[in-house]
Amino acid sequence: MLRICSLLALVAWSAGAAPVDWIWSARYVITMDGQRRVIENGAVAIRGERIIAAGLRSEIDREYQARQRLDLPEALIAPGLINTHGHAPMVLLRGIADDLRLQEWLEKYIFPAEARNVTTDFVRWGTRLACLEMLLGGTTTFTDMYYFEDVIAETAKECGMRGVLGETIIGFPSPDAKTPADALRFTEKFLARFHGDQLIAPAVAPHAIFTNSDETLRACRALANRYSAPLLIHLSETKRENDETLVKRGKTPTAVLDELGVFNGRTVAAHAVWVNDADLQILRAHHVGIAHCPSSNMKLASGAAPVVKMLALDLAVGLGTDGPAGSNNDLDMFEEMDLASKMQKLVTSDPEVLPARQALEMATIRGAAALGMEKEIGSVESGKRADLITVRLDRANAVPLYDVYSQMVYALKASDVRDVMINGRLVVRDARPLTIDAKQVIAKAEEYGRRVRESLKK
Ligand SMILES: [Zn+2]
Repeated sequence: MLRICSLLALVAWSAGAAPVDWIWSARYVITMDGQRRVIENGAVAIRGERIIAAGLRSEIDREYQARQRLDLPEALIAPGLINTHGHAPMVLLRGIADDLRLQEWLEKYIFPAEARNVTTDFVRWGTRLACLEMLLGGTTTFTDMYYFEDVIAETAKECGMRGVLGETIIGFPSPDAKTPADALRFTEKFLARFHGDQLIAPAVAPHAIFTNSDETLRACRALANRYSAPLLIHLSETKRENDETLVKRGKTPTAVLDELGVFNGRTVAAHAVWVNDADLQILRAHHVGIAHCPSSNMKLASGAAPVVKMLALDLAVGLGTDGPAGSNNDLDMFEEMDLASKMQKLVTSDPEVLPARQALEMATIRGAAALGMEKEIGSVESGKRADLITVRLDRANAVPLYDVYSQMVYALKASDVRDVMINGRLVVRDARPLTIDAKQVIAKAEEYGRRVRESLKK
């Protein structure tokens, strides 16, 4: 009798539990939600492309019935990492020349290598390689400014990655546009093609103030606003570029862009190293998102962005790898979190600034805000897109564990990432990519390496 009763109870319980596609459970769920909840013995329910609920495993198991499960008592679940600035296909030029001044590096190596090699195929294989590295390292959204951006978008979709992507608009001939007007026409088609896409947010990407005319910059803003698209731009990366604008126009690049109306709409500014207090007020007033790139700024000796001040003003500061050719030779967001924190401690002589939790915020929810996507991604909470990662906690560098934020930022590595889901689709399982043929991509990268080396001998 007792057995029948409990069987009936079980049936009733099952009938009451709402169906979901997945339940993921782990030792910790780092939510990065409004209360910054860290749930011990937590779980996440996922239906379609969205997160339905995050809570205690016992509660999630009671309320939901999953078609598939992933139970990892020796791992943590976190929001997917968000890379707010980079140039993905340049990964095929990884390490082509290092330890040089920016101008020499660009003129002697990058520009000739790009002129002789950058084709649609180069961009396709480069993006596959970049996506492979990013996915395996827990990055679920990347931001990109390069050439043949339509190919980058197609490839990102094929890999199942989320991207905020914009064709570089620059005042000299590029591999796929003779003039900025050509690049603008290309961008308009690109915006129309990917408007409303589930994974790709098309953007308008003027390279910088010093490589574009005022007229082009104004046209970029107008085009972005017509399509409610973000505008991506490099801003005050080096002292030289900043000083040149000051001498030429009597104003900082930020003040000039403000005067031109470039910030009148969603904007993501990369670097913002040489910005003064008045510039920060302008960026704040216009809700400009900042892509802070600590590895790149250190490697090129560009300087230290005033990130502590930016955060005190509550600017949306995300993290970016930049590169990956020579300004940063990899696409590792764990490294950027670690360096962002340590760089600010060093330059302010204050170990209390930019603590681990804040660094993880920059790589997740604040990065999402920098891209204007904080309602969709950046945290593990009900209603958001299911962009999730799991990270192993059973390795030498992961034990013992006193504080999950500390572990995540200062001890865990990109190679500790185990599973990755983007928009509800599992793209990495147990550190194996499901959407990319890794062997083939790595062989192609070696082949391109040989080709590029040969091309530079000519
Ligand atoms: Zn850049």
